[in-house]
Amino acid sequence: MQAEIITVGDEILIGQIVDTNSQWLGQRLNEIGVSVYQITSIQDDRQHILKALSEAEANVDIIIITGGLGPTKDDITKLTLAEYFNDVLVRNQEIEDHIKQLFGRIKYKFTDMDIRQAMLPAKATVLKNELGTASGMWFKKGQKVIISLPGVPNEMKGLMTNSVLPKLIESFHLPFILHKTLHTYGLGESRVAERLEAWENQLPQSIRLAYLPSYGRVRLRLSARGKDLKQLQYELNKEAESLRLLVEDIFVDEDENEALELSLNKILTDNSLTLSLAESCTGGNVARMITAIPGASKFLKGALVAYSAEVKERILHVPADMINAHSVVSEKVAIEMALQCQKLFNTDYAVATTGNAGPTTDETDESVGVVFIGIATPAGVYASEYFFGKPRGKVIERASVKSLELLRK
Ligand code: ATP
Ligand code: MG
Repeated sequence: MQAEIITVGDEILIGQIVDTNSQWLGQRLNEIGVSVYQITSIQDDRQHILKALSEAEANVDIIIITGGLGPTKDDITKLTLAEYFNDVLVRNQEIEDHIKQLFGRIKYKFTDMDIRQAMLPAKATVLKNELGTASGMWFKKGQKVIISLPGVPNEMKGLMTNSVLPKLIESFHLPFILHKTLHTYGLGESRVAERLEAWENQLPQSIRLAYLPSYGRVRLRLSARGKDLKQLQYELNKEAESLRLLVEDIFVDEDENEALELSLNKILTDNSLTLSLAESCTGGNVARMITAIPGASKFLKGALVAYSAEVKERILHVPADMINAHSVVSEKVAIEMALQCQKLFNTDYAVATTGNAGPTTDETDESVGVVFIGIATPAGVYASEYFFGKPRGKVIERASVKSLELLRK
């Protein structure tokens, strides 16, 4: 089953608004197993709308158009659809009453312009818009359907959720596809898979598990597929709950992309704790991840990219002797960096990274990928050694994620 999304509106093409409707519609269609073949954005122009409709009709089963349903002169989608289907506009009493009621509620006078919103194509199944005056329209042409929705995002979403999706599922006998994603940290994909094997084998047919690994994190995505939405939601929640218990020690949060950063942000803020960073091999990446989440200023006092030995010595006061005796990439130096950083910024917690992200010309150099992470807490300080492999970007990303993970413990 394939669909095309057509967004109508000059504002989109001149870059005044971003087309978020297509993104949202794409997600919803994907959830019911409809693949989006093409997304088209066009002007409020009769010729362009007619051309886009006939081209889409040649390619897909479902066409969803948003925008251009207002009562003003520039909104011509409805008239153009009537022309496309050789149709006429007729006055729809139910919609007229609905509009009057809407306007009564917000104390506006009913005008001729408003009556225009109750004039709808005779051949269309009218989809009442609870949130506005622009009705949705559902046209059928042979086996294909063409659906027109208002451009205003919350009106479009309301109509889609309450009318269009259930109607599409019924008309095309489609299943629902729901997802839930748990974010885990600190355990590799194969180790997680080993742990979940027995549980995965007993999952019901309607539910699948996918592993989505990225540096230092493994996302576990559960997908449920079936026709009974309520039953499906129930099964998905139930399985997500039992999965959560199995990964409790390495699990951070559901569904958010930056689950680890968000949860750290919350813990530090809720407990009024402060943090500082002394980053060598991660070059400020830990600070970037932390500051990407709003509200970081509540707990992050500062970060120092102490890249050279000189800065480690002069600003962080790591003794030169220590660096010379143990190498700059060592447990001792990571501990000292964390302690000095905690002192310098006067914070409850401090994180330090020092490592070799590579590459080097010496293929046999075993120090590439080695990173020490130092964590200073109010209760004490420690550092751990990690081997993050290659290439450089991966070492930096894994070291950064690991730093946040250790801090969160
Ligand atoms: P109205 O009755 O408000 O005129 P309409 O159906 O005619 O509704 P448009 O005039 O095309 O819709 O758009 C109304 C507003 O909705 C736009 O100003 C814009 O803010 C928003 N909008 C329209 N299309 C999109 C889209 N594709 N993505 C995000 N927002 C949109
Ligand atoms: Mg409009």
